[in-house]
Amino acid sequence: MIHRRKFLLTGLLMGASQSHAESIGFELQPAQPHVLGDGMAYAQAYRASAQAVIAVIVNRLALPFPSARMLVFEDHAAFEAALIEHLKLSPEVAKTTASFAKAAVGPGHLLLNHPAMQTIGQEEQLITMAHEMTHLVQAALNGGRALWRYHWLTEGFAEWVAFRVVYELGAADFSLQRQKMLIQVRPIWQAGQLARLEQMDRFDEWVKVRAARGFNATYPFAFFAAEFLIERHTLPQVTAYFRAFSQSTNAANNFQVTFGETLQDFQLDLNVQLKKLFQL
Ligand SMILES: [Zn+2]
Repeated sequence: MIHRRKFLLTGLLMGASQSHAESIGFELQPAQPHVLGDGMAYAQAYRASAQAVIAVIVNRLALPFPSARMLVFEDHAAFEAALIEHLKLSPEVAKTTASFAKAAVGPGHLLLNHPAMQTIGQEEQLITMAHEMTHLVQAALNGGRALWRYHWLTEGFAEWVAFRVVYELGAADFSLQRQKMLIQVRPIWQAGQLARLEQMDRFDEWVKVRAARGFNATYPFAFFAAEFLIERHTLPQVTAYFRAFSQSTNAANNFQVTFGETLQDFQLDLNVQLKKLFQL
């Protein structure tokens, strides 16, 4: 049983009242982050949020969090340049990503696009940060390898952890958030338009499904798939799945060895679960 504890988040994610030209970076670690730049109010706020997220990830969910650097960017152009510099994206991909992404994560880095973060509410900002930070957890588990396969699980797990974290922080009502996602995904299920998990394997397939069937057919659906996997096999088992990638990049084999079933077996029972979830 995990006890719910309230953190006071009001005011933590306030925006800057003035614009500043430089980005601010600080090391993000489980203990005592070191501020590298001038401590501007909003950067401090992001740092406080990040520390709260790390506390839940490490202490409540018993997941590892690596040493990483969080950089906050004050305009799209600086964020775009950082995507090229730190995440090694091509200029073309960086431009597209910077136009919509609120945050991005790469080896040892969490990049925040401050103007984009300002367009969403505090709860959503915290969910976004926790989601991206979960990708750093996955990197810590698998020795920093990129997770190119079973993308539905990489993203679904990040969604599940993110919602769990904001719930633990007392910043969101988990059952309300879950209900909202049920309503988002239900019509897609009713129309028989949810992709099979094997169709959301590689990153490009994930992007394709999102483009063809919409956002709700990807992230919220992946949340329910990850939730079912965790209920069926426990959180430590799912953690073990990500850890297995430090030894082998064979996703199908890692899945089968860790969970004792193939993706096809899981899909069959997931279909039954989806019926339970979405049938009115
Ligand atoms: Zn993600």
